[in-house]
Formats: sequence, C-alpha cells, structure tokens
Amino acid sequence: MEALASFKKELSSPKKIFITTHVKPDADALGSSLGLANYLLKKGHEVTVVTPSDYPSFLNWMKGNDSVLDFSRDDLKPAVSRALFQADIIFCLDFSALNRVNELGEMIRQSDAYIVNIDHHQDPEDFANFRYWSTQAAATCELIYELIVNLGDKHLIDKDIAECLYAGIMTDTGGFRHPNTTKNVHLVVAELIDIGANASQIANWIYDSYSINRLKFIGFAISRRLIIREDLHTAYFAISKKDLKKYQSRTGDTEGLVNYALSLDGIKIAALFSEREDGIKISFRSTVDVAVNKFAASYFNGGGHKNAAGGKSELSLKETIERFESLVEEHQDELFHKETISAD
Ligand code: 5GP
Ligand code: MN
Repeated sequence: MEALASFKKELSSPKKIFITTHVKPDADALGSSLGLANYLLKKGHEVTVVTPSDYPSFLNWMKGNDSVLDFSRDDLKPAVSRALFQADIIFCLDFSALNRVNELGEMIRQSDAYIVNIDHHQDPEDFANFRYWSTQAAATCELIYELIVNLGDKHLIDKDIAECLYAGIMTDTGGFRHPNTTKNVHLVVAELIDIGANASQIANWIYDSYSINRLKFIGFAISRRLIIREDLHTAYFAISKKDLKKYQSRTGDTEGLVNYALSLDGIKIAALFSEREDGIKISFRSTVDVAVNKFAASYFNGGGHKNAAGGKSELSLKETIERFESLVEEHQDELFHKETISAD
C-alpha cells in the first residue's frame, strides 16, 4: 500500500509517460497499453505508446491505435528514442523480463525514469521501481482495471477504455474458458459491460475477422501439418516459411491455431512451431493438469503461464521438432504427473 501511495504521488502532477508491451502484442498487451494510455491522457499526462513490433490488424479498432509507434519501423526509431529519453515514467505492461521487448529492453534498463511493471506472468525480473503484479490475475487488463479503481478513478473509465480492457480479459481467458476464468474476471467484465463495453462486438472484431487466406491456411495446417503423437499425449503443428508465404500469412494469422491441436481428445500438450525470419517461434498449450511454462523455460528459452507458454529455437524446423519429441518423451513422467510438479 505504501508502494501504491508513492506511485500515486508520481502521477499527481502532469508527466511525460512512455508505455510499452511485449513483442508481437496480443489483445491483452495492446488493450492494457491503450486502456492505460487513454486513462492517463484523461488525467492530463503526455503519453506515448510504443510496441516493439507490429501486431494483428484485428486489434486496430482500439482507441489510440493510430498513435501507437512501432519500434521495428526504422522511420519511427528516432521518435521512439526521443520519447523514451524524455520520459518521466515508463510503464512495462504484460511482460515480466526486459528481453521480451527486444532492443527496447536495454534502453529501458539504462533509463533514469521511474519504471512501473504491471503484469501477470511468473517469475518477474526485478527491474521496476513499482511493480503491480499478480499471477492470480487472468490478464494484465484485469490489473489495469483494478489499479485505476485503487487510484480512486473508476469514474474515469469510459466506453473506449472499457473496450480495450475487456478485449484483453476475453482473449487471455480464451473467451472465458481457461482455468484462469475466475469469479473476479466475471465481476470485472460485468463492470466493463456496465460502463459500455460491447461484448459481442468485441468478440466479432477479434474472432470473426478472418481473411479467406487465413481460413484456408487453417484448413491446410490441420490436414497437412498436424503431427499427432498419441503415445505422448502430444500434438503439434510444424509450419515452414514456405507455408506461411504460400498463404500470404500476416501478423496474427497463426494465433489460435495451436488450440486445434489441444482440442483433440486425449491430447494434453499442444505446440505450434513456425519458421520465422529470426528462428523458430514456438507456442505451447496444455490441459489444466499439465504445466508447460517450465518446459518452455528449461528447453526453449521461453516461459509464460502454466497452460499457455512460448519459446524459441535457433535449430532448423526439423531439428526443433525432433528435439521437442525427444524432450517430451524423456520428461513424460514429470509432465504427465507420474510425479507431481508445481508450476506456481
Ligand atoms: P503465445 O503462444 O500466445 O505467443 O504465448 C503464450 C504465452 O506465453 C503468453 O503469455 C506469452 O507472454 C508467453 N510467451 C510467448 N513467447 C514467449 C517467450 O519467448 N518468452 C517468454 N518468457 N514468454 C513467452
Ligand atoms: Mn497477458
């Protein structure tokens, strides 16, 4: 509470504020950033929102989207560096380690600004002056809502802010289906709907805005690129650069694909390996009784939540999936609770 009081004091006069979130932002990352930005603007601060990369076009409806600066664009780098250098306060949202924001991480580490980390991932790195962090929260957007309420400013949450926050809670709970869908999640979204968030419109913007290529790509991936290892309760997609090119894949087009592998009866671990410019990007998902975050951290330089994690590999696609299969085989006793492991 003392920490909250000193944070509140930081915000008591107009400040230059820099908000950033993890690479390839999802709805929780962008929704928490823009939800917070819209609130801080109302409080009279000067706010710049920066993403370390681009993000899916199905998030473009959020208020403030047009002012977001993408740090991976060379033409925007000077403006971002200037805003970061001039910032009084830097908010780091929806990530727990500075390596999740690429080169921005080192710049933030060097900064003299007051650093705030708001997040719900495990094992936060100690880089912030003020940390508002809970692994009990389903989404960073849930924490932003709670923080604004704790600052005594609930009345400032308007329809635009409510919609940004609703989007992040909806997607990070997998549409209110994952084990993190708590009573508090429903209480918060009830408030957001009450304020004006349009639940079905947001679901439509995010889930029902596929291009025909994206839909055809899913069909292709399920019929040609899904590998099922029933003996290991594991199913995964291996998508090459060529596959992505053939379907003119855009940022966000592979989002959700991994869930089809997990939807199979008897499958407890699902993965998606996609070959990108800078290596193999990996998404892991698991059923409630299996933890994948430690597996991702130990073997694939990643992390995340118990049932939804990610990582990367510098091996070829073929070598990566071979390594994955042998690691699951080798560690099946711990993974499948033939021995109990704790993820929290
Ligand atoms: P996704 O599979 O949707 O990209 O990510 C699932 C979860 O794992 C998210 O919570 C995300 O923040 C986390 N995650 C994804 N990739 C990485 C990574 O490379 N490192 C860490 N620490 N977490 C990741
Ligand atoms: Mn999140």
